[in-house]
Amino acid sequence: MTEQRPGGGSLAERPVRPAQSSRRKRTRALRDELRLAVAQGGGIKAHYQPIVDMHDGRVVRLEALARWTHKDLGPIAPTEFIPVAERGGLIRDLGWRVLEHAMRDMAPWRERSPGLRCAMNLSADVLAQPHLAGEIDRTLQKLGASPDHLSVEITESVLVAHADRTRDNLEELRKLGVRVEIDDFGTGFSSLRYLQLLPVDSVKIDRQFVAGIFHERKSETIVRAVVGLCHELGFEVVAEGVEDEATWEVLRALGCDSAQGYLISEPMPAAQILPWLVGWEDRAPRLAPTRDGGAEASARRSVLVVDDEPAILALVSELLTMEGYSVQTAANGEEALRAVQLDLPALILLDVHMPVLDGEGFVRALRSRGIRLPVVIMTAGPSAEHWARTLGADASVAKPFGLDDLLHVAGRFTTPGPRPH
Ligand code: C2E
Ligand code: CA
Ligand code: CA
Repeated sequence: MTEQRPGGGSLAERPVRPAQSSRRKRTRALRDELRLAVAQGGGIKAHYQPIVDMHDGRVVRLEALARWTHKDLGPIAPTEFIPVAERGGLIRDLGWRVLEHAMRDMAPWRERSPGLRCAMNLSADVLAQPHLAGEIDRTLQKLGASPDHLSVEITESVLVAHADRTRDNLEELRKLGVRVEIDDFGTGFSSLRYLQLLPVDSVKIDRQFVAGIFHERKSETIVRAVVGLCHELGFEVVAEGVEDEATWEVLRALGCDSAQGYLISEPMPAAQILPWLVGWEDRAPRLAPTRDGGAEASARRSVLVVDDEPAILALVSELLTMEGYSVQTAANGEEALRAVQLDLPALILLDVHMPVLDGEGFVRALRSRGIRLPVVIMTAGPSAEHWARTLGADASVAKPFGLDDLLHVAGRFTTPGPRPH
């Protein structure tokens, strides 16, 4: 007997919907063509997308992204053909094709950027193969490359099956000298467990959290927490999907180590990489200016006041200016970072609770750039001292404060110039 459904025939008789059937047909046709392409190598190549160090702008990795041009249909999106390859048992051989392309392509790029690695995406299936590390090692040797040319990106889904073997493989790969990175971090169901279980070098935060960071308080909070957690565990943090400078600045401020995204570059064919590397050398210093952290502030009398309350900014600047200080102001941590990058002040008076980038994020951003400057926390009541301790600041003044309190604390770190007439 077959089950009867309300308003329709039996399940056994239910017709396949036309859209579904044509999708299946396309998938089947793609799978057959892809099998051929993978076997012969035709139509498959890699594009490369740079990952750069946010502190000094160095290009640290190029992610190899598979590209397939179908002989009749033209380019097929990886989001379509990668799942087809995974389900059709082709992902392993596709992976080797991409690795071959990448290792051949890399040689001249590594001459220009020593230490550069290629980042490869590894599927769960591949990671659960026995003797994976040995096989990768032999393939690298055959291609004249070595494990320190390679980094592998794995998603949180890899532990769903064969968890032990996957972990062993990753451990062996790391022993060889291959880097291991968790990709799309935050999108899996038990991300923290993966951090605990998997032997990794870095964690790439998924672009869902990165894209909204400039506007959404929640994304910023999540990224800040992930950065803190990963750093505590000794992992590097990479942000993907960085599309504009505002996002770059906030991520840098939050202490992210490296970044990838359209702001830096879209994935490029191999032929474009060398010219891009040359062009990047000009662009990098603007996005990632390196500063000598120990440099003396040019003027001992300059003070940067950071507060989102316009009345406080106005009052404090007026008081300090009258006493002979030169004063800059910023309404949040982000503006303050920009000000610091333009000109190092002798002292920073810092509010804690501010939008966009708060006092805590700002202090962390300074540290991550190796900038050491006296910071005085100014926030309401008894929490000022607590915040100063938590953030490792040099002193605190509790709001509301009087002129004397302010001058006293400023005088500990700076020397005012002559008073204006
Ligand atoms: P993924 O590993 O997360 O790769 C990053 C994807 O994000 C790429 O898409 C890239 O073009 C895109 N992307 C990069 N920067 C930005 C940005 O600033 N904004 C936005 N909106 N997107 C950005 P692509 O090339 O279509 O690859 C899609 C996925 O296909 C990859 O996601 C990866 O999971 C998979 N894939 C690609 N190549 C391979 C491969 O060789 N092997 C395996 N197993 N998977 C691969
Ligand atoms: Ca990836
Ligand atoms: Ca990703």
